[in-house]
Formats: sequence, structure tokens, C-alpha cells
Amino acid sequence: MLAAVFVAISLVPVVLGVTLLGQRLDQQVAERAQAELVTAADAIVVATDARATRVGDLTSDAAELLVAEEGAEALADADEQALGELIDDLADGRVPERADVLVVVAPDGRPLATAGSLPDTTDEELAEAVVAGEQVPGVSHASREVQTREDDELETLGWVAAANPVTATELTTGTTVDFGLVRNDSVVAATATPPASLPPLGEVEETSANGTAVTATTATSTEGTLVIWSQRPTTGGLLAPLTAVAAPVALLALVLAWLLAGQLTRPLATAAAAARDVADGDLERRAPDDRGPAEVRELSAALNQMATQLSQRLTEVQESRDALAASLDRVGQSLAARLDLSHVLDVIASSAEEALAADRAEVLLVEDGELRPYTHGFTPDVDLAGPLRRLAEHVYATGRPSRLPDPQDEIHSDASDGAALCVPLRRHGGVRGTLTVWRLDASQPYDDRDVAILRSFSSHASVALDHVDRHAEAQRQAATDGLTGLANIRTLRDTLSRECSAADRHGRELSVLTVDLDHFKHVNDVWGHDAGDTVLVEVARRLSDSCRTSDLVARAGGEEFIVLLPETDTAGAQVIGERVRQSVSATPVRVRGGNNDPDGQLELSVTCSVGIATRDPQEPSDDLLRRADQALYDAKRRGRDRVITATPPPVGEGTGERPTTGPDA
Ligand code: GH3
Ligand code: MG
Ligand code: MG
Repeated sequence: MLAAVFVAISLVPVVLGVTLLGQRLDQQVAERAQAELVTAADAIVVATDARATRVGDLTSDAAELLVAEEGAEALADADEQALGELIDDLADGRVPERADVLVVVAPDGRPLATAGSLPDTTDEELAEAVVAGEQVPGVSHASREVQTREDDELETLGWVAAANPVTATELTTGTTVDFGLVRNDSVVAATATPPASLPPLGEVEETSANGTAVTATTATSTEGTLVIWSQRPTTGGLLAPLTAVAAPVALLALVLAWLLAGQLTRPLATAAAAARDVADGDLERRAPDDRGPAEVRELSAALNQMATQLSQRLTEVQESRDALAASLDRVGQSLAARLDLSHVLDVIASSAEEALAADRAEVLLVEDGELRPYTHGFTPDVDLAGPLRRLAEHVYATGRPSRLPDPQDEIHSDASDGAALCVPLRRHGGVRGTLTVWRLDASQPYDDRDVAILRSFSSHASVALDHVDRHAEAQRQAATDGLTGLANIRTLRDTLSRECSAADRHGRELSVLTVDLDHFKHVNDVWGHDAGDTVLVEVARRLSDSCRTSDLVARAGGEEFIVLLPETDTAGAQVIGERVRQSVSATPVRVRGGNNDPDGQLELSVTCSVGIATRDPQEPSDDLLRRADQALYDAKRRGRDRVITATPPPVGEGTGERPTTGPDA
């Protein structure tokens, strides 16, 4: 391609030059031919006139001689010998200098004496023409009639004529012109066939046909009209020699262009191959930057620089990807390892803040249908509660990511609000909360890519939060009783052991109540297990209502409950124990259905027995519970629906001195 361009570039000037040169040359040749023709015409007119004069003079001389006595006699007698001698004498030194031929003609047109001769015309032909007063083709002649007067009458003795061939070569010697003599519109003589149309007198005209240009002019001479012309080859003829010169030049240009193009294209092709290799991923490939023209070397150097930069950037990208992967790993581990909400939220916020180059990140969680903040790294002096909250509310309402400044212009903000991006944290198809990242600099708004990153991250974060929720739920289930929602026995034991330690540390009192429904088997047997369950749930509620929030009410199993009373002495425990007993027995429990009447309403009166034990300092928790159980057993034994306080532990096991079982509270 490049080579073709080079060839074209080098050939076009050559062709153009040859054409222009041809035209210019042609023009110059024409001008010169015209000038030459004019000069030649002048010379030919002068020469023709001079010769005509010479021929005329010679004829006059001869006529005078023949009019004189001796000559007239010889002519009258047609004495050829005498005439011959006379003519020879006259011609001596004058023929062929003045005319080629000098002839004496008898009145009957017979040549009587001749000196010299014409190349193509006989004396007889010339003599006849002279007498007839006609022209001889190719001949220019002058003639005089020789007359004598007899009895006052003129008598023709004969004629004398001198002639030259019109085409005498000396006229055109040294020129390339031809000429002809025209008399009465017909060509008398010519050196060659004259042009068909003749220019007006004195003008130069040029006509061209069949590759030949004819320049012609006309002039007057004493002999008649002279037509002078010259011929030369036209452009075609000129172009041929020019082309002969141009062709090798063009060929040379072609070869040079080819070589030059090769010089340029070879290094270019090498550079292109290197560029392709780089594009195919071989970033170590370099183009030779010391070959070819300066521009190509520069191009190769630029290409190499680009490859180097690309390689560096790739390494950087690789490194940053590794770093990102490591960071994601860390985030993943961190999220998976810890199942407490505050830690997970902390990781979510700090990771989002780091990944999106934010000045701060904020997590809001939905609680009771409202967004409540959980913040990370907030700078307290910047109050963005307004715009950021509006943004989060919008995301909560629409369930879609949103930005400040908002491309949809649905959320109002101004430059001082910075740039923010908020995405929903999801749970079971709904919105669990929002994650917002924020930059102080509003001139660096978050773009679609950032939205995609944070969206993807938030889906991981949502999964992590889901894990936390599930874990919390599992923990809650493990710690509570499925039927009543109270703490189960395991939770009670854990709490009791903690409370024992706390009581020991702070020297506080600690009491427990054991509560057992009286004759509960009977309820089940008569009214069915479901009715029994309803009673259990209602009793649990009444127990909880009878206690303080600092107390722990647990279901110990079946129809037995334990209440943990921190910082409570025996007297306090007895007050609460009595309140518990009354809360159960005071009002019957309403139960739907039952074994016999599934749709009916029952009112079941239940009572309970309560055992109280107050912890002796350092007393093990099991001992404390055993003593409370013992008190409960005593309550049952004594007739149920009552509160019995346990005696302190035997001496040596505790510090108090109390009876084994005390009276009713
Ligand atoms: P006492 O006054 O001596 O405590 O008599 P009681 O019938 O209450 O005692 P017992 O230990 O003989 O019977 C306890 C009954 O409690 C047996 C069982 O049917 C019932 N029970 C235990 N757990 C549940 C439960 O979760 N739901 C229901 N409906 N009944 C339960
Ligand atoms: Mg019972
Ligand atoms: Mg029982």
C-alpha cells in the first residue's frame, strides 16, 4: 500500500513534467518555426526578385543584340549558326550565372539558338510556351519579342527568353522551408506539394494534421505570389522522444520508490508485529527502536514505552487485586468468625469505607419499622444527618441504591452535602437496613461502577447479617423454653452460677423460689394436654408479672418453675413467693375447649406450692436449689397452695443457723 503511494508520488511529477515540457517544447518549436519561416520568406522574396531582375536583364541584353543590324539579319534569316554564335558570345559568363538557359525563338515557336539548358524542360517546350505566352511548369522565365518596322508596320522577327527552374535549390539552401510560385491562383512551380489552403498575403498560419504541423505564409515577388511553408512533427511526435526519456526516469523513480517504501515499511511492519504481540498479551515484547526513519524509531520507542507502562499497570492491578482478595478474605473470615451484631456491622462499615475510599460509612438498621443508626468512624463536626438520612429513607422506601448528588434528581442535595452512595441491606426479600458511604468532596461523585461494587458488597453483608440473626435466634431458642418463652433450666443454671459469683464478690443476698403446680396431672387428665399447656403459658405470664425485671423466671421442666431473685434476702423472697402463689390461685385460668367440649370456655382454678431458699455465703448453687426443692416438697407435704422457706444449710456447710423448714411465709 505504502509502496504504491510512493510510486504514485514519484510517477505523477514525472508524467506531469513530461506533459508540460512537451507542451512548452511544442510551443517553442512552433514559435521558432514561424520566425524561421518569416526570415526564410523574406530571403526567398529577395532572392526571387534578384533573380527575376537578372533574368530580365539578360533577356533585355539579348533583345538589344537581336535588334542590332547583325543580330536582326541573322534572326530574320533564321540563320541558326549566326544566332548560335551571337548567343554564345552573349551567354559567355552570364549563363548559367544569370539564367540556366537563354533561347532565341523563331516566330513559329521553333528554338533557333540556345545557351544552357533547363533540367526538366526542353528548349522546344520553353520556346512554344514563350510564343504562346504561357507558363512552363516549374520554370520562371522572362521573354522579349523582337520586332522590326517595315513600311510603318511592326513585324515580329522572333523571341528571346531566359529561364530558371523555380525550384532552384540555392533559394532554400540552409533552411528547412519549401516554397512555390502561384500565378492566377494556380501553382506554377513548387519545391514540394504546397498546403491546400493558403494564408492571406503576409500572414503566417499554422495547421496540423496526422501528427504534422504545417506553418505557411505568402508574399509577393516580381514573379508572382510566393507561398512558403515548413513542416514538422507535432506533440505526438515530440512526446515520443520525451517519453523515451521519461520512461527510464519513471522506471528509475519506480524502483527508487519501491526501495524507499521498503526502507520505511519494513521497520513499520516490524513495529506493527511487536504491537500485535503486545496486544496479544506478551508485555515483555519490544519493537527495535534503532532502525528505519526517525519517525518510525520514535513510534517504536513510544510503543515500547506503552508496553512498559502497561506491564507496570498490570503488575499494579495484579497487586491491588491480590490486596483486594486478601482484604475480602479478611472480611469474609471476620464476618464468618464473629456472630455478634456489633462486630459484624463494624466490619461492614469499615470495609465499605475502605473499598469505596469514603470519608465515613454508616449502617442504619430497621427496628420497629424505623431506621436506626449504627455508625462507624463518623466525624462529629460534620452534620449530615439531613441529606444522608433522606438518602437512606429513600433507599429504604424504594429498595434501590441511590446517590447524592442524585442523577434522577429525586433527592434534593447541594455541593456542601458531599457525595454519598446508599444501598439496601436485605433480609428475606425485604430491606433490613441501609449502608451509606460518604465523601466530603462533592466533585468526586460515586459512579455506576461504585454502585455495582457496593451493591455486591452489601449482598455479602446481608448474608453475614442473616447469619448473625440466625445465630441469635438459635441462641435464643437454646436459652428459652419453647412453650412458655421463659428461660430454660440451662439458662437458669448459667445465670445462677454467675449470680452466685456476683453475690460472693459483692457480699449480696441471693434467693430462689421453686414453684410447682398442684395436682396438675389432674388438669391434664380431665381437660386434656392442650388445656394443660394453656394453663402453663398463663401461669408463666403471671409469674413474670409478679417478679421484677432483674429477676429471672425459668421453667425448670413440666409444671415446675424456678425464680432467681438477685439481691434479695429471705424476707424479700417470702414477699415475692407469696405474691406468686396468689397470682396463680387468685384468678381461674380461662381455657378454650378441653377433652369433652372443644369449643367451650373453661375456667380452671389452679394453685401452686412455693419453696424458698436464701443462699448462704459460698453455698454451691446445686445445694441452694436442693434446699429450695426440699422446701417445696415440705409445702406439698403440708397440704399444697402454700409458701415454705427452707432452713439454712447445716453448720459447716454455711454460716446461718436456721431450722430445717420454717413456717409459712
Ligand atoms: P403434685 O401436686 O404432687 O405436684 O401433683 P401433680 O399431679 O402436679 O404431680 P405429678 O408429678 O404427678 O404430675 C405432673 C404432671 O404434669 C404430669 C404431666 O402430665 C404434667 N405435665 C408435665 N409437663 C407438661 C407439659 O408440658 N404440658 C402439660 N399439659 N402437662 C405437663
Ligand atoms: Mg405438680
Ligand atoms: Mg411436679
